[in-house]
Amino acid sequence: MIFMKRNFNRGVHFLLSGIILLVGLGRAQALSVSRAQYLMGTICEITVITERIGKAEMAISKAFQEILDLDRMMSSYRSDSELSRVNAQAATSPVSTSPRLFEALSYSSHYAILTQNAFDPAVEPLIQLWDFRGEGRVPTKQGVQEALQKVGFEKIVLDDDSHTVFFRENGVGIDLGGIGKGYALDRAALYLKKEGFPNALLNFGGEILVLGHGPEGEDWKMEVADPQDRTQGVVFFYATDVAISTSGNSERFIEVDGKRYGHILDPRSGYPVKFNGSVTVIGPSATDADALSTALFVMGEKEGLKWLKKFPQIRAFYLVPDRSTGVRFAGTENLSNLGIVVNSEKTTLTKTKEEIK
Ligand code: ADP
Ligand code: MG
Repeated sequence: MIFMKRNFNRGVHFLLSGIILLVGLGRAQALSVSRAQYLMGTICEITVITERIGKAEMAISKAFQEILDLDRMMSSYRSDSELSRVNAQAATSPVSTSPRLFEALSYSSHYAILTQNAFDPAVEPLIQLWDFRGEGRVPTKQGVQEALQKVGFEKIVLDDDSHTVFFRENGVGIDLGGIGKGYALDRAALYLKKEGFPNALLNFGGEILVLGHGPEGEDWKMEVADPQDRTQGVVFFYATDVAISTSGNSERFIEVDGKRYGHILDPRSGYPVKFNGSVTVIGPSATDADALSTALFVMGEKEGLKWLKKFPQIRAFYLVPDRSTGVRFAGTENLSNLGIVVNSEKTTLTKTKEEIK
């Protein structure tokens, strides 16, 4: 099936982190308000379908403020963030945290257990070793082995009663880069709903959350880009009341001696994941989708699709670079009810169920 672009002529295109979003602006639609702000190192765009324009503008700026507050709380780039304070002190004695940071850490622990540490925010010692927040560096094998001794969320004690965090060892650290944007999107969406805006689209550099319907009363149109050429959409579908997260390595990486190393690390080996494709997760919340797209990127296609069989509420697909066709599509069986359309000029559906096992 070849996807026709004609419906989207007057659409607004967003090209962020491998996801292209198309908001139809056809006739007789409800009014929409769209605002964008640079937050957490990327662009956050919120569109609300409403006739209460002034109220929607106010609600969107409050939602941005909420995200900014969460960034001040969770950022590893801010030495004065609450998370940085936890990282500096939690090996000495338990550190009290705010309810929201504790919640984000509890989700982190949950997903680390669920994914057998493919997703593991206690990867901080490796992030530092590879200098992912700076110029980047390639460590020695011994350096990687030493850092690995300090990696793993099981080295972190979260006390549900006192909301304290304690590191069992020196040198342990947390990086919420793999879940923070998803968590922030869920909080922002909750706020918009509470303010009486049930139809909205929130796009946070690859993390998407869609509420209700689009400007013409239809589900929101989604387009996922070719991981090797982000101007090309290859997968298309409609979505409502779900979160969509794409993880890839093409956008954020370090470059050392002309070689690129992607920003997603395998916490089990200590090395950046070598995969030039992407994985997209469609899940019930943005926190789920964000954490799981990072985890599935680490697991890779074979292990990932096998793991997903245990979680039928999660829909996901890999886009795998393919020499002959450009990109190959490999997704979960439960995608069919989304009316997903794969651009056959660019993609092939070559793998059968049996081959993936
Ligand atoms: P993006 O930020 O592009 O949406 P991800 O959600 O996949 O990408 O998160 C990647 C970020 O998460 C990295 O930049 C790093 O801060 C952190 N990270 C890297 N590897 C892991 C991992 N295996 N588990 C959890 N977090 C990780
Ligand atoms: Mg993620």
